[in-house]
Amino acid sequence: MFFNIFGLIVYLILRPPEYLADVQERELEILAKEETLNSELTCYGCHQPIEPDFLICPYCMKRLKKSCPACNHPLDLNWKVCPYCKTSL
Ligand SMILES: [Zn+2]
Ligand SMILES: [Zn+2]
Repeated sequence: MFFNIFGLIVYLILRPPEYLADVQERELEILAKEETLNSELTCYGCHQPIEPDFLICPYCMKRLKKSCPACNHPLDLNWKVCPYCKTSL
């Protein structure tokens, strides 16, 4: 029992500092990856996962895109012209 606790203390003291830094770096990398994934596929109103061609968020009903009146492609709300069929909006 004494040796176990002593060994643990020695381990905590002698543990190489790079190990902790590595773990923290890896955690940050994972977080950054999750953030980029989320920012690509979540509603900017409620942050629920959405598909890139959704016209409206199914969770909070926020308008995400509008559909072209001529070709029905999903378009950004602030686009002035449809890039697929050149219909002005
Ligand atoms: Zn939403
Ligand atoms: Zn169009």
